[in-house]
Amino acid sequence: MADPIFERVALIGLGLIGSSLALAIQRGGLARHVVGHARSPKTRKIAGEIGLAERVCESAADAVSDADLVILCVPVGACAEVAKEIGPKLKAGAVLTDVGSVKEAVIRDVAPYVPQSVHFIPGHPIAGTEQSGPLSGFAELFDGRWCILTPPPLSDPGAIERLKSFWRGCGSNVEIMDAQHHDLVLAITSHLPHLIAYNIVGTAADLEEVTKSEVIKYSAGGFRDFTRIAASDPVMWRDVFLNNKDAVLEMLGRFSEDLSALQRAIRWGDADTLITLFTRAREIRRGIIAAGQDTAAPDFGRQKTSADAPLPPKRGG
Ligand code: NAP
Repeated sequence: MADPIFERVALIGLGLIGSSLALAIQRGGLARHVVGHARSPKTRKIAGEIGLAERVCESAADAVSDADLVILCVPVGACAEVAKEIGPKLKAGAVLTDVGSVKEAVIRDVAPYVPQSVHFIPGHPIAGTEQSGPLSGFAELFDGRWCILTPPPLSDPGAIERLKSFWRGCGSNVEIMDAQHHDLVLAITSHLPHLIAYNIVGTAADLEEVTKSEVIKYSAGGFRDFTRIAASDPVMWRDVFLNNKDAVLEMLGRFSEDLSALQRAIRWGDADTLITLFTRAREIRRGIIAAGQDTAAPDFGRQKTSADAPLPPKRGG
């Protein structure tokens, strides 16, 4: 193996992100040794069977001993408890990072347990799917996606550089950002869309009681895309909203104001307002495709499978 960036990496949590990191590390030869920890025996068993790590430990503290990169891949709300457990076992000079979708709360919860000799550099890969668990990971998850690092002031520049190289090795582009700014940006680009998806699916589910399953039967592309987002892990998203409360409420306030304006435009037949907004939104979608952050293929490039084929006509009665 040509000079790996880290000698020993410990992955704490082996769900979608942890398992994808394990596979990306293997693909890129980014570490000589990878040790994992998962909370449940079931995840540990699967992780061992599919070879995510050379050793999958029952305790997080055992997994981090001697690691020079430790990555917390657990829900945001679990970071404090994990940090408390591993803090005393972290090796001097090690880099400690995380992948949590919220950054200020992770810093608040983890920093008190990090020894002076350890470099704590929080991070967030802007990459994911609605799947979870150790079997959902894939090595290409981070390819071409951004990873945001939010190092506290006075962080060691050498440690930041090594972590940047690591994420580049996983296929990501890397950006440095202030944690508070990160939480505000992600509140509108990720957290609010999930909240809207959970809400619209909930409203439709209530309607379903009235319309006797027509919502599911006739679910058009728009609704189906919301249900995909709303299938994301409930614990992960509970923790995001509980830990990015201020930024989400701020964005939700703006969203509600804009929605009221749209409601008004529809009520008063204000066609110009509708066309202006819809045209601007289409341009934003085109910008996302031009930036390589999504595909222009129809239906998000979904592969047609036999399950999508129309049902054969019913025979007989
Ligand atoms: P996931 O697939 O549900 O995996 C979570 C992992 O954390 C599992 O291994 C789980 O263990 C473990 N875990 C849960 N609670 C724990 C606790 N209290 N103590 C110790 N371990 C615990 O979740 P994920 O999608 O990988 O998300 C992990 C982190 O990545 C979250 O902080 C999330 O905000 C962030 N993130 C997610 C996405 C995304 O799209 N999913 C994108 C970017 C960042 P068991 O399997 O044993 O239960």
